Amino acid sequence: MEILHISAECYPVAKVGGLGDVVGALPKYQNQLGHIAKVVMPMYRTKFLYEHDFDIVHKGSFGMGTYWFNYTIIKERTNKLGFDLYLVDINGLLDRESVYGYGDDTERFTAFQIAVVDWMSQWQHRPDIVHVHDHQAGLVPFMMQHCLGYRHLAAVPTVLTIHNAQYQGQMGWDKSGYIPNWDTWEWGKLDWRNNINPLACAVKCVRQVTTVSQTYLEEMRSNANGLENLFEYEKGKCTGILNGIDTDVWDPAVDTYIDPNFTKKDAGLGKLANKKVLCDEFNLDISKPLFIFIGRLVHEKAADLLPQAIYDSVYHMEGKMNFLLLGSGDANVEWELENMKSQLVGYYNSKIGYNEKLSHQLYAGADFLLMPSRVEPCGLNQMYAMRYGTVPIVRNTGGLRDTVIDFGDPGGYGIRFNDATVWDVTYSIHRALEMYSQPEIFKEIIATIMELDFSWETSAKKYIKLYESIK
Ligand code: ADP
Repeated sequence: MEILHISAECYPVAKVGGLGDVVGALPKYQNQLGHIAKVVMPMYRTKFLYEHDFDIVHKGSFGMGTYWFNYTIIKERTNKLGFDLYLVDINGLLDRESVYGYGDDTERFTAFQIAVVDWMSQWQHRPDIVHVHDHQAGLVPFMMQHCLGYRHLAAVPTVLTIHNAQYQGQMGWDKSGYIPNWDTWEWGKLDWRNNINPLACAVKCVRQVTTVSQTYLEEMRSNANGLENLFEYEKGKCTGILNGIDTDVWDPAVDTYIDPNFTKKDAGLGKLANKKVLCDEFNLDISKPLFIFIGRLVHEKAADLLPQAIYDSVYHMEGKMNFLLLGSGDANVEWELENMKSQLVGYYNSKIGYNEKLSHQLYAGADFLLMPSRVEPCGLNQMYAMRYGTVPIVRNTGGLRDTVIDFGDPGGYGIRFNDATVWDVTYSIHRALEMYSQPEIFKEIIATIMELDFSWETSAKKYIKLYESIK
């Protein structure tokens, strides 16, 4: 099968969160199963672009409202990612350093999608599956089915994967003119609560919807930022397929970001040496358990609970632990995390920003990972952490619930709590200290989590099965 993945992110070209990781890995594993999976994404101005060679494969142009854009499709020459990578260049819109966060993101991603559909419409053949990811590619199925110039693509089976239903790409109806010459009888497919809603539109138009864990699929029917009724109505075509992790990239035995490398056999010493690097750099005490958090500092991740939970833990548990946080996002949380540094010297430190290398070092050197998320469709951090022998402390939600079993339950190995509250986080830290204080049990848990199989093989096969059911 030939599968075209359309996404705003793809690791290592451009990554903001889990979407990038998934789109950078799933196609590779689909190719290993004997299929032809390709990725098309915007050509941002990231390091990857300047460090690789590309060939121009197509040039075209299209109108978007009153604007006219030229676009170029380039293809990475060496196939080094394990799949064909195509980038869409649109000068004036996509030629930026960051993926998101610009005032014209609506125009940027709408134009990206038009360019992709326009390019695909000129292929000599049709792909077997068009697989769109999140709202930034959500209008593609509609365009293939209802834009008059692209209707010859209408029969191509389409799949949507929702990595996060909180973000939907809504725009006002004043922007409906951006979508090229479309059948206005079909306006209802674009609409959700009097706005154009690309994510809702994709759910309505595609043949199959997947979300990145089974529990998140169930939760979306009661908590999906306004789309709950839609997911209830469309539940017949929705499936949960848990993300895997790219074990080529995330392997403590060969990871070039960490020093030393280690395996399950020498995890004790290996992790300690990595912890030392962190403790030296961030002025922490290597003899205490190290708790980390890595992620976007946003409401969904409940990062706002961390400052108080850290104060309470340090003060009420006699400073028996250290904390090290890495993330960026909400300005208030960033400010609080910075501010705490001077008040909790020797107990806490943080790095505001995005730092791929440090994230690997943290997974390798920490003892516990905190994930108090209010919403977590799948969550990759907990899986990376476990592969690097770091025990996850997670809220009982979404993919966290599907991947972490509390150590109090049969076969358990992590720590789970129910409420996104300071109290529950602090109490879980207390439980973690208990676990840590029993070295034999702790060692056994580390061995167990490093053995768990979160590789892509199983999930990649599930996607193929799903494609086969709609071909
Ligand atoms: P989400 O996609 O909601 O942000 P996931 O857990 O699915 O959350 O994926 C997060 C990914 O982004 C992981 O690979 C994590 O290591 C990475 N990440 C998040 N924040 C940072 C950061 N500040 N620096 C480096 N990596 C980060």
